[in-house]
Amino acid sequence: MKLYSTNNTLSEVSFKDAVFNSMPQDKGLYMPYSIPRLDADFINNLDKYSLPEIAFKVAQNLLGDSIPEADLKALIDDAINFPAPIVKLEDNVYVLELFHGPSLAFKDFGARFMSRVMSYFLEPGEKQLDVLVATSGDTGGAVALGFLGVPNTRVTILYPKGKVSGVQEQQLTTNGQNIRALEVDGTFDDCQALVKQAFVDDELNEKFRLTSANSINIARLVPQTFYYFNAYAQLLRQGIKKVVFSVPSGNFGNIGAGLLAWKMGLPVEKFIAATNVNDTVPEFLKTGVYQPKPSVATLSNAMDVGNPSNWVRIADLFKNDTEALKELVVGFKYDDEETVKAINWVFDNYNYVVCPHTAIAWQALTDYKQDHAAVDTAGVFLSTAHPCKFPDVFSDEVAAKIEVPEQVKELEAKTKLAVAISKDFADFKGYLLGVN
Ligand SMILES: *Cc1c(COP(=O)(O)O)cnc(C)c1O
Repeated sequence: MKLYSTNNTLSEVSFKDAVFNSMPQDKGLYMPYSIPRLDADFINNLDKYSLPEIAFKVAQNLLGDSIPEADLKALIDDAINFPAPIVKLEDNVYVLELFHGPSLAFKDFGARFMSRVMSYFLEPGEKQLDVLVATSGDTGGAVALGFLGVPNTRVTILYPKGKVSGVQEQQLTTNGQNIRALEVDGTFDDCQALVKQAFVDDELNEKFRLTSANSINIARLVPQTFYYFNAYAQLLRQGIKKVVFSVPSGNFGNIGAGLLAWKMGLPVEKFIAATNVNDTVPEFLKTGVYQPKPSVATLSNAMDVGNPSNWVRIADLFKNDTEALKELVVGFKYDDEETVKAINWVFDNYNYVVCPHTAIAWQALTDYKQDHAAVDTAGVFLSTAHPCKFPDVFSDEVAAKIEVPEQVKELEAKTKLAVAISKDFADFKGYLLGVN
């Protein structure tokens, strides 16, 4: 796969370079020059394939010239080792459960794949890769567990003290091995500022081979296409051929991957971009004006993004043809009150617990269907995280119904290994250099 920067379509970099750089110097985003369509035969017969088989075919379509077949297959089998089932809630309403990976969030797909790609591309004798990541909760857990034990890599996670949930903190801080957690006395923005400053610090760059693991990395986007194909495979097995996906969106990586899958030939009728009150994209879809805003804190905090970083990719995919984009993507937004109402409705009617992000996707699908009832079309809303990661938002009755997965119970017995630092860069740098 050859890639260009969205700010310079004449640039050309290899997949390997795009993975290690994350972002082009010109601050654009990497996009593949060519997004080949998959065989119609393969698409029509998706129901005959398992998730790892689908993942391999789709990855090969994009990366076949970058990673030899046998290596790619081994990499996929190692990275995509957990299921992504659709669960039927009623006729034509399905939830796509993306929380069966180690950190219980869909970000596991991206993080596990990216960590293995990075490790694969490291040459023998090369400097250890130092991954720096700031997290408001879910990213850090996925990256920590994605890189845990991956040779020749080390991860340093910065998280804001007191601002992540109990389960999230345990996932960040109990790993040991090649994972280090820093508890920053500050906000998520402070954590992000520290990481950004580290990347431009000469002394640190001299000493370490720094890389970021953020959601704009192309190696996180590619594996997120897999589960869209796999969801369609499961619908085909039920005799359903038309689908609408509702995606709870923050940085728009998840829905961006869905659109990439569509570009490769997956027949999707509509994508619903579901947001909380951080509604830059729904607003754009309504008015045609893209106006980034400062982010607002909500219950669905993994979607508190005022300027979604993957949006330029989506615009680029449509060559800035807003009309064509609006044909395929519709936007809906909800506030916290509506989010809680949706959680309770889903619980009361389906006896099913959704996390606050997932609740927004369900509500958007429901509202979309009001105006677009179609008996032959399945609505699939993506469940991006397990509800046990967000215990504070549920009523006691709903909370009591949440089944806590085994891996979470195991975390409770482990020791917290975080190092406390201030939000001063000197403190962070001192830690990295080992002089503290
Ligand atoms: C990251 C995250 C999102 C938002 O996904 P994007 O790809 O940034 O749009 C939604 N829900 C949960 C639980 C997340 O962790």
